[in-house]
Amino acid sequence: MLKCDFCGVETDFVVRVAIDKDYDRLTVRHEKRYACIVCSEKKERERQERTKDSAEQKK
Ligand SMILES: [Zn+2]
Repeated sequence: MLKCDFCGVETDFVVRVAIDKDYDRLTVRHEKRYACIVCSEKKERERQERTKDSAEQKK
């Protein structure tokens, strides 16, 4: 049984999430975390939003 590093739920199925570097700098460096399905989808969406935002700022 593994534990989700984001919401703390215990689950048999976790996804490894690599935190973005910019985000990472503020927390723990280059750490891969385990996320449950819900959190991994959430993180993926957040990552895509950030990517979109930074791309738009460069215009
Ligand atoms: Zn979770």
